[in-house]
Amino acid sequence: MMDCSRCDKKAVYAGQGQNYCKSHFLEYFESKVTKTISKYELIKTGDKVCVATSGGKDSLAVLYMTSLYCKKFDIEFFALAIDEGIADYRDHTLNDLKTFCKKYEVKLHIVSFKEEFGDTLDNIKDKAIKDFNKKPCTVCGIFRRTLLNRSARKLGATKLVTGHNLDDEAQSFLMNTLLGNMSHNASLGPITGLNDNDKFVARVKPLYFMLEKETRLFALLKCFKVEFSECPNISMSFRAIIRDEINTIENKLPGAKNGVINSFMEVLPLLKEHYRGKKQKRTFNYCKECGDACAGDVCNSCKLEEELGIKKNNMERI
Ligand code: SF4
Ligand code: ZN
Repeated sequence: MMDCSRCDKKAVYAGQGQNYCKSHFLEYFESKVTKTISKYELIKTGDKVCVATSGGKDSLAVLYMTSLYCKKFDIEFFALAIDEGIADYRDHTLNDLKTFCKKYEVKLHIVSFKEEFGDTLDNIKDKAIKDFNKKPCTVCGIFRRTLLNRSARKLGATKLVTGHNLDDEAQSFLMNTLLGNMSHNASLGPITGLNDNDKFVARVKPLYFMLEKETRLFALLKCFKVEFSECPNISMSFRAIIRDEINTIENKLPGAKNGVINSFMEVLPLLKEHYRGKKQKRTFNYCKECGDACAGDVCNSCKLEEELGIKKNNMERI
């Protein structure tokens, strides 16, 4: 590895024409994330910030960066984790998370699929695959999204921070595009959510412009205790196929992932304008089962619970 572009120490990372030693890499990472938070107004004075976290590298990096920012500007924040019930995986990441929160004195709330939906993902997924041909990530994604929003709202949060990085967003953009779901792309970006609906907590992504490998290196250099293990279900997902393809392209054409996101950011305002126009003609409802905001009469989560035969009386959740 070459020398750092800013001092005479050995570089630990090279990217976008610059080489960074350990301390200059940490400075680069922290300053880019902080700039993203201020430029896109992801977190503002008066917010109550809920950081969605799992104990994985992205979520510990985003929790660390959010806590730095919130402490500096005296903004209230806490961490929220979902225990989906994935054996030999989530229990390890939650242990890492508890250790982290203790060390950095972060208040942590943990909610589980079992409490909210009556069973673990491990138990639900067998039936979902066998009887309904649904992949575990489809079930997990819908329930997780619902539970994060619902819990953040109940805890009084005004912002829900997630650990999505540039790789995740490039994957989502390409997945939506390949599936012909262009309207879903209008919901991506550093800040998403319906500000005019009190049932939705706006989601913000401070790591939006950081590559996965940069986030991984940051977690390593900061000595966060992280098991770099993957969820056992990821290999069954469409995302894993897209992730591997984009990684192959990035190896042949370095900078391709940044290219995807830069292009996307250029068209995002047009997409938002186009689809917001359409949305205005649509009336927004509240789910008649659980009270969450949704497009039809019943939200996706309640529909899925019904379909999988695990529906319980939700009215107490409202
Ligand atoms: Fe859930 Fe799929 Fe992510 Fe595993 S990989 S945590 S099943 S969405
Ligand atoms: Zn519902």
